[in-house]
Amino acid sequence: MTHETADEPNRTAIPRPPSVGMVSLGCPKALVDSERILTRLRAEGYTISPDYAGADAVIVNTCGFLDSARAESLDAIGEALAENGRVIVTGCMGADESAIREAHPRVLAVTGPHQYEQVLDAVHEANPRPHEPFLDLLPPQGLRLTPRHYAWLKISEGCNHKCAFCIIPQLRGKLASRPVRAVLREAEKLAEAGVRELLVISQDTSAYGRDIRHAPGDWRGTEYRAHIKDLSEGLASLGLWTRLHYVYPYKQVDDLIPLMSTAAKPAGLLPYLDIPFQHSHPDILRRMARPAASENTLERIRTWRSINPDIALRSTFIVGFPGETEAEFEHLLGWLEEARLDRVGCFIYEDVAGAPANALANHVDPEIAAERQARFMEVSARISAEKLEAKVGTKVWAILDEVEEDEATGRTVADAPEIDGRIFVEGEGLKVGEIVEVEVTGAEEHDLWGEALR
Ligand code: SF4
Repeated sequence: MTHETADEPNRTAIPRPPSVGMVSLGCPKALVDSERILTRLRAEGYTISPDYAGADAVIVNTCGFLDSARAESLDAIGEALAENGRVIVTGCMGADESAIREAHPRVLAVTGPHQYEQVLDAVHEANPRPHEPFLDLLPPQGLRLTPRHYAWLKISEGCNHKCAFCIIPQLRGKLASRPVRAVLREAEKLAEAGVRELLVISQDTSAYGRDIRHAPGDWRGTEYRAHIKDLSEGLASLGLWTRLHYVYPYKQVDDLIPLMSTAAKPAGLLPYLDIPFQHSHPDILRRMARPAASENTLERIRTWRSINPDIALRSTFIVGFPGETEAEFEHLLGWLEEARLDRVGCFIYEDVAGAPANALANHVDPEIAAERQARFMEVSARISAEKLEAKVGTKVWAILDEVEEDEATGRTVADAPEIDGRIFVEGEGLKVGEIVEVEVTGAEEHDLWGEALR
């Protein structure tokens, strides 16, 4: 028989496992990286702290896409150092270790994008891992930072293009596609865990599988190629709402449109495409060295809409690219008037350290660039308002992200989380993650209002 005293350790007591905090900056791809790191740490028995005070170390997952994002990353590192003091840096800006160490010499470790093993090593060194991992506490779908009902699904890393304004290929390397079976298995596990909407992401979704020669894989007794069409078919068979992001308008995109559902009965592959067009003028697109720069995009959009009139198109654009003339900018405005995209974002060109576009002649005066952005957004807001006004009195389907008593905030088939518009829904007994039919009663520039139909 043993007696425990204050001097004698309690052999059955479980020591408090080390706790790690995470600050995740940047794009959805970085968010997925953060989720993977947290999943691995949790599998090893670490706990995840929601605040600085409770964490034994903090990981800052940085973004290095634009100089403004780099500044934000440095600020976040500074804040984590001030609040916690034990900071491990990873992510895109981690590729520039000297800039981080110059600003913040006290950081414990700096690792680059996708260096999961190195991040884990740094955490192990800062706070040795517990002896007995609580593997059984880990949910099979991993830990996610998004709400339970939707999830980002990353299908590849890196990019084979050399867009003049971008340093992502330098930071993240060439296209590296995940095996198709691994992607479909992950989607299946997410579905089993209650996810109702998948958001497919990569740097170049249409190029999925090119680097692995579209190697086939077996899933649920059927063979699928590592190709965006096969992958879309596989994902659609799960019945979840599935959106494709970062799609370039290559020819094979035409084959995806017939796979999409209608807006009246959304299921599987949604009638939604996120295509970063960036500009319309062929000379600018050439100077930008954009993929699919020679495509007649207006013609392609017409074809897609003739196949599925419900398709919602979202895109981003850059104004004030070096050498952009007033005529080239007006070409873009005219293109937008014809394309009548559903959702758009517009950024002012910024030099990014290491990007080839910095060396281009005739940088546009920042005031002119800001004025062009305002003119662009005025046109896009008008188009959006007209399109949304036309929905008043119709019925749409919405997935609910938040519910407070009899009011919910949701998104229609045309709206991805965080980047598109919202629909505010009234109704009794609404639940987060539920997909409901809604009668639209009001509209503004970007958002809708409506009543749930039961
Ligand atoms: S397609 Fe262009 S902008 Fe996108 S990641 Fe590749 S190089 Fe960068």
